[in-house]
Amino acid sequence: MKAAIVTVGDEILIGQITDTNSGFIAKALDKIGIGVHEMLSISDDRMHILSTLAFLQNRVDVVIITGGLGPTKDDITKTTLCEYFDDHMVRNEAVEAHVVELFERVTGRPTSQVNRDQALVPSKSTVLHNAVGTAPGMWLEKGNAVFVSLPGVPYEMKYLIENEVVPRLVKQFERPYIIHKTILTYGQGESHIAERIEDWENNLPEFIKLAYLPHPGRVRLRMTARGTDEAMLRDRIAAETEKLKVLIDDIIVGYDEEDTIEVVLGRLLAEKGKTIATAESCTGGRIAQLLTSVAGASAYFKGSAVTYSTDSKVAVLGVPQEIIDKYSVVSAEVAEAMAAGAKKIFGTDYAIATTGNAGPSKGDSDAGLGTVYIAFATPQKVYSEKYELGQPREKVIERASNKGLEKIYQ
Ligand code: ATP
Ligand code: MG
Repeated sequence: MKAAIVTVGDEILIGQITDTNSGFIAKALDKIGIGVHEMLSISDDRMHILSTLAFLQNRVDVVIITGGLGPTKDDITKTTLCEYFDDHMVRNEAVEAHVVELFERVTGRPTSQVNRDQALVPSKSTVLHNAVGTAPGMWLEKGNAVFVSLPGVPYEMKYLIENEVVPRLVKQFERPYIIHKTILTYGQGESHIAERIEDWENNLPEFIKLAYLPHPGRVRLRMTARGTDEAMLRDRIAAETEKLKVLIDDIIVGYDEEDTIEVVLGRLLAEKGKTIATAESCTGGRIAQLLTSVAGASAYFKGSAVTYSTDSKVAVLGVPQEIIDKYSVVSAEVAEAMAAGAKKIFGTDYAIATTGNAGPSKGDSDAGLGTVYIAFATPQKVYSEKYELGQPREKVIERASNKGLEKIYQ
């Protein structure tokens, strides 16, 4: 959907006044997803106005014209529009009553014929009520193009744009395109993210809406753009995505609806030719399940040891019994020994290990409900993190699994 703005007036061309109307109108159109493709300033000249209208007829969908609507002889936009539309003038009674009322209230004098004639409008036009002045706005259609003529006086023009033109344009041009863009983030809650992107979000154009879609451990940000100009919508979504990337680059892990952490991590491992394994206690194989839910996971996922009992951690993963005795089975030391064991057994570059208490009861360690240690073995080192993931049980398992994938990705 394209628009052109035409300002009519010799005063503009001789530099007596500066055209500020075009900028205001362009902003208002941009907000509703209509791109302005040209702005022209032309003289109060019949031939010049006619040729400009004909020139724009097939170039744009909407032409907004300001200026030259006054009752004086030099203002010829209205008669010229009438000529362009092959039309004749009719007297609009509602406009005349409004002109008389306004004129007599302001001047205290009877309304002259010249002023009454402001109520003359092309018969094919739809009158746009100008509550703050005497010259009405006019809406005309020819072919597929809409022509809107507005008074040049800035506050009258603004009133008409906001109250008459924008609402009509929104209605007139149905908005068949809806474009979504989903940005997948990990590791921060929605309120924290909202704070970080507040300014950006406040400055989004009206035709882009932002939704926060939270899941345990991750938040999807979904932009939805609606409008008629598909290319413009796509460009704008891409530009806004770039801006967002600058703000929260550290937590963005993917851009498509199907980009879950396991997909993104898998892609990265495959790209780098690296492999991964898991050793899972409290997550019971959930991390391995997530990793293998991605087609092609065999390229990088080697295996998982679900070592739920204390004995199996020793027997399968080679966790030293002394460490378990000394630090408890739910501890950073045991998690790290599990990760190191998995990395060795499966011969991988990376390993993730979990040990914790998912609840709802205390279990065979002193760990609190929802306490989970997640350990990571990388080519360089083995380290772990402690998480308090609360309750219920399913949430602890889901969040611990997501955390494990998220951390190794980072
Ligand atoms: P009026 O009924 O007051 O004559 P009009 O529709 O005939 O309104 P113009 O005569 O073109 O409009 O302009 C009226 C005044 O509005 C100008 O003298 C100028 O101050 C202002 N104006 C007109 N066009 C613009 C513009 N493009 N940008 C800023 N101001 C403008
Ligand atoms: Mg004038």
